[in-house]
Amino acid sequence: MNPVLQIVASALAAIKRSAAPASRPKPDPGPWSPALLKQLEWRRFEELCAACLEIEGYAVRVARTGADGVVDIHMCEAGSDQPSTLVQCKAWDAYRVGVEPVRRLRAAMAASRIGKGMLVSSGRFTPEAADYAGKQSIRLVDGSAFLARLAALPPDKSLALLKFATQGDYLTPTCPACSVKMVSRKSTRQGRKFWGCRNYPQCKQTLPALMTP
Ligand SMILES: [Zn+2]
Repeated sequence: MNPVLQIVASALAAIKRSAAPASRPKPDPGPWSPALLKQLEWRRFEELCAACLEIEGYAVRVARTGADGVVDIHMCEAGSDQPSTLVQCKAWDAYRVGVEPVRRLRAAMAASRIGKGMLVSSGRFTPEAADYAGKQSIRLVDGSAFLARLAALPPDKSLALLKFATQGDYLTPTCPACSVKMVSRKSTRQGRKFWGCRNYPQCKQTLPALMTP
């Protein structure tokens, strides 16, 4: 598979397509809000972040780095084609984002020799994460800071992003390995709910049910 995905291009194409009437009615997600941001499944949240940065004027290049589905967004300042910041996204997963994802971003920055980092979350970060990020040239953008960025965009652009983010199924998480929507399953032993891949048993990827709204 081509490791470089044109997520922003597909996001913008989807924005154009979303002008067509939806095939079936769905509840109005309403305007941007902390609750809506937390509802977005992780892949949609990543795509939203990349599209938002592009509208803000940065050149972005999206690279999927491994089978775990983590996406690196290489962000270049306007007029430059050299990435200055490595961006990763962390969708809300019921708890505040701790120091581990920040450490992983630091390692990815070192591997790709990019000096600055940005971690975007639809939720909040722990003080430990903030402390570590502050020492590593990593900027943390939490849910409320991200909402403020969306609000600062031209209104038509913000509305277009809202339409893109909420079109189709934006709630069900995507399998990081296969890029298909996952299905809700229950473990036979404890009755615990989790997300499993449609391609099971070929793909054994699971996600905790906590990632659901
Ligand atoms: Zn899968």
